[in-house]
Amino acid sequence: MAGYDYDLFVIGGGSGGVRAARVAAALGKRVGIAEEYRFGGTCVIRGCVPKKLYVYASQFPEHFADAAGYGWTVPEASFNWRTLVANKDREISRLEAIYKKNVEGAGGETFHSRAMIVDPHVVHLLDDDRTVTADQILIATGGRPAAHPALPGHEHCIFSNEAFDLKELPKAIMIEGGGYIAVEFANIFHGLGVDTTLVYRGKEILSRFDMDLRRTLHETMEKKGIRILCHAVSESIRKRPDGRLDALLTTGQTLTVDQVMLAIGRIPNTQNMGLEGIGLEMTQAGAIKVDEYSRTNIDNIWAIGDVTNRVQLTPVAIHEAMCFVETAFKGNPTAPDHDTIATAVFSQPEIGTVGLSEDEAVKRFADVEIYRASFRPMRHTLSGRDEKMLMKLVVDGASRKVLGAHVLGPDAGEMAQLLGIPLKAGVTKDDFDRTMAVHPTAAEELVTMYKPTYRVKDGQRVQ
Ligand code: NDP
Repeated sequence: MAGYDYDLFVIGGGSGGVRAARVAAALGKRVGIAEEYRFGGTCVIRGCVPKKLYVYASQFPEHFADAAGYGWTVPEASFNWRTLVANKDREISRLEAIYKKNVEGAGGETFHSRAMIVDPHVVHLLDDDRTVTADQILIATGGRPAAHPALPGHEHCIFSNEAFDLKELPKAIMIEGGGYIAVEFANIFHGLGVDTTLVYRGKEILSRFDMDLRRTLHETMEKKGIRILCHAVSESIRKRPDGRLDALLTTGQTLTVDQVMLAIGRIPNTQNMGLEGIGLEMTQAGAIKVDEYSRTNIDNIWAIGDVTNRVQLTPVAIHEAMCFVETAFKGNPTAPDHDTIATAVFSQPEIGTVGLSEDEAVKRFADVEIYRASFRPMRHTLSGRDEKMLMKLVVDGASRKVLGAHVLGPDAGEMAQLLGIPLKAGVTKDDFDRTMAVHPTAAEELVTMYKPTYRVKDGQRVQ
């Protein structure tokens, strides 16, 4: 639209916002994008990328220990936290620059500023004290860790944001929560030599995953030395005279630690952006309400990614961005597909999963076949590491369709990506059986489990 400064103005320079800006600009649209902090957003700056780097860092002690069985003598190793933080910073700065450059290279204009919507076609850039107009506006401001103001002493706690950049590695940490972030960080800190306690309110960690994997991961983490307290919540956090923290739990225990990290979910970034002022509809949880095409109740304003609180995952935000561009600029209305999303938890061992858990399948299907293999992966034979790998297929007995595939063990995340393709395509167990194994791999178990381990008929387990 010639009357506006931009065809599209994007607020938020994370994975979703940058993708939409870059692709729309490459179509020849006049695009502006504002980011108040750093281009790259949660995933690149304080999420997936630094997390994975820290996972790698935390795995070395086990690699060193495992090397002995393969004939290696490794001299006593030492770890420098500050080196890791500095190297991580260098890498994310490199990625940040690429994100920005990609938008600009496609012809988009980047702004380093907080943005507020003052009218459905007008955005105020606070840091520049400048107002711009746009035909279409896309909100992709992501989310942030949920605070816990009801917890006395919450001001002493840190979140995942701060955990990446602590000045010193704590000697002991308590992490509250049982989701992705709590479990991943518990493994990271433990691997780096920190005395780690995970405190979770429910009966088993990772409530949205298959119970078999949850239990086996829990046992494996405890065997490594991570303390996991279920059915427990912290009641208060008190600072001691020596600067350490006492965490009082509902179980009556007191944990004395150097840091308490809260990982109790993430909430959408919708505050102080002028959204109420223009009448934008939001959910009770404060997320932006959108239709199946990511359009808000205001015709020319759209929202994608964590700010909509649909599925809080980077690839989902990127997919929603691509669908938005198809819909808004290519005359091809495309609704994002949120069905059968493969995902990984970078715990140690990893979880890789796609589709229905056994419990979910049993609720929906009368005859469910479970194929399950638990074994010691080959790499742990000579190393002597006492750790099992678990693989599980959940199959609809009537149609033979594979409903879920779940892996716990080394490289499970990589396997989940590939398992996502056949499950998305709706393949049957017979297709898995017809597939030749790749030998010797751990993943070959997925195509060699010919007989069901057990069935669940009308909710009852039968052998
Ligand atoms: P999750 O939703 O995964 O987990 C939140 C955890 O906090 C749950 O165990 C929940 O318990 C617990 N909880 C919630 N409220 C309270 C409370 N008031 N007191 C005590 N415990 C509480 O959120 P995360 O913060 O771990 O991660 C946010 C999102 O980021 C994830 O949903 C995921 O989509 C994404 N993410 C993805 C990663 C990946 O792909 N590998 C890695 C990290 C994050 P309950 O289970 O009982 O509800």
